[in-house]
Order: sequence, then structure tokens, then C-alpha cells
Amino acid sequence: MADCVFCKIVAGQIPANVVHEDDATIAFMDIGAVNPGHVLVATKPHVENVMGLDDALAGAAFRTVARVARGVQAAFGPPGISVYQANGAPAGQTVFHFHVHVVPRWEHDGMAVHWPVKNPPREELAANAVRIRAALR
Ligand code: AMP
Ligand code: ZN
Repeated sequence: MADCVFCKIVAGQIPANVVHEDDATIAFMDIGAVNPGHVLVATKPHVENVMGLDDALAGAAFRTVARVARGVQAAFGPPGISVYQANGAPAGQTVFHFHVHVVPRWEHDGMAVHWPVKNPPREELAANAVRIRAALR
């Protein structure tokens, strides 16, 4: 897609520090790294978000995520790794080309996701599960 920064990286039109590339995915260092070793795994085709992945591309993307996570673990030895992926502006997505963050984590590194637990009643969980099961394709 013409104005997409990650399409430009895939096409080699702008520079990136690439750590892995295959037919379906590319992994490169995040220019705004939260911690040393922060990598983005992107699909090569322009897919806006997780809803646009078919089974093959979803499998390819997560295979690369796991491979990159093993590499980050071996190279930086962090005591934790966050795998983070945002879909849509309210979820925090800023680049609208599917990608997954692989972020090495250390205690007190300042990265935080606010997680406002609601603990809904069991009946509500059951009703929501029914809705989603009925909608699965
Ligand atoms: P998200 O908020 O999940 O959409 O994250 C987008 C990420 O892309 C941010 O962490 C940016 O730092 C990163 N980013 C944007 N442009 C580039 C670029 N040219 N090279 C590498 N990372 C980039
Ligand atoms: Zn794109």
C-alpha cells in the first residue's frame, strides 16, 4: 500500500534493521524500542489487523514471533518477554499494517499495560462465550 511505512520496509524502500525474513513475514528492530532487543514481526502482505489474517498468514506470523522470541531470549537473556499486538486506534495501534511486538522485559522497566479487571459473574462469561462461539467462522 502506497502510504504504509511497513509496506515500504517490506519493499526495501526505507531502511530497517532486519533480523529475520521469509516468504510471508519480516522482523525488524522497533525504531521506538521500549527496551533493547524490541523487535516487530510484520506480515509481508499489507493486512491492516488480525482480522485480515487467513490461517496460513496467521500461522506464519506466529511461527516468526516464536522464532524471534527465542532469538531475543538467547541474545539478551531477559527474565521476561511480552508479546503485544494492537488492533485499531482504541487498542493502541498506530501503524495500520499487521505486526506483533516482541519486547524483552526486566523488572521495573517502566512498561505497563493497565488491566482494569472487572470479574464479571459466571453467567455473563457463559453468555459471552455463546455469542462468540456462534460467530466463529
Ligand atoms: P503499534 O502502536 O502497535 O501500531 O506500534 C507501531 C510501532 O512501529 C511503534 O512501536 C513504532 O516505534 C514502530 N515504528 C514506526 N515506524 C517504524 C519504522 N520506520 N521502523 C521501525 N519501527 C517503526
Ligand atoms: Zn502496509
